[in-house]
Amino acid sequence: MQIDVLTIFPAFFDVLEVSLLGRAREAGLLDIRVHDLRDWTHDRHRTVDDTPYGGGAGMVMKPEPWGEALDALVPADAGAQAPPVIVFPSPAGARFSQSMARELAGASHLIFGCGRYEGIDERVFDYAATRGDVRMVSLGDYVLNGGEVAAMAMIEAVGRLVPGVVGNPDSLVEESHEDGLLEHPSYTKPAAWRGFEVPPVLLSGNHGAVAAWRREQQLERTRARRPDLLGPQD
Ligand code: SAM
Repeated sequence: MQIDVLTIFPAFFDVLEVSLLGRAREAGLLDIRVHDLRDWTHDRHRTVDDTPYGGGAGMVMKPEPWGEALDALVPADAGAQAPPVIVFPSPAGARFSQSMARELAGASHLIFGCGRYEGIDERVFDYAATRGDVRMVSLGDYVLNGGEVAAMAMIEAVGRLVPGVVGNPDSLVEESHEDGLLEHPSYTKPAAWRGFEVPPVLLSGNHGAVAAWRREQQLERTRARRPDLLGPQD
């Protein structure tokens, strides 16, 4: 999978060199390229923002650098290549989820456009739609300073679903949100620690009883923490 990131703060993405995603990049499973949007400016100050039409607080990202950057990443004559999915992190977007991560993991080319200031000139999204499948995606109902942290979270959630990135594919299936419920509690050795015991059923060796206990824990935890995830049958 190829992932391009457009940002005015490329250093935010340095962490993509470590851990699982760093290894996946080295192994050639993920081709992640981070671009400085200012490379597509032409003035001495490398300006990417301007005052908003109609007035109001703050600055808006100018369309010109975005247009040139998109032209560079998605040439108009891309031929038979599938158009990329172009994700713009935005608090005014659709809420990111595990199912959206799975959908995005099916794409061969993702582009993340990280906004700053009061956001990006709206025409950039219209132009991007002529080059790819545009998604406005929110990390949650709060406002961040920029799209970088949101893009990082999405790249990690999507990247770990790319085949081969996580060593044991079973560990992806058993996680929170994969079956609509939160994951059950997990324990490792020692069986007793500082007065806290591992639930005896996990030491029983009875696989059926362990599976039943885990399912009940999933339901109990989801009822307590995220009742909105449950249907009437739960
Ligand atoms: N004025 C915008 C609004 O009210 O919708 C918020 C702009 S915010 C300060 C700057 C940038 O941060 C946005 O363009 C977006 O890229 C990013 N951002 C902020 N909150 C976000 C969220 N919850 N999810 C994804 N991206 C977010």
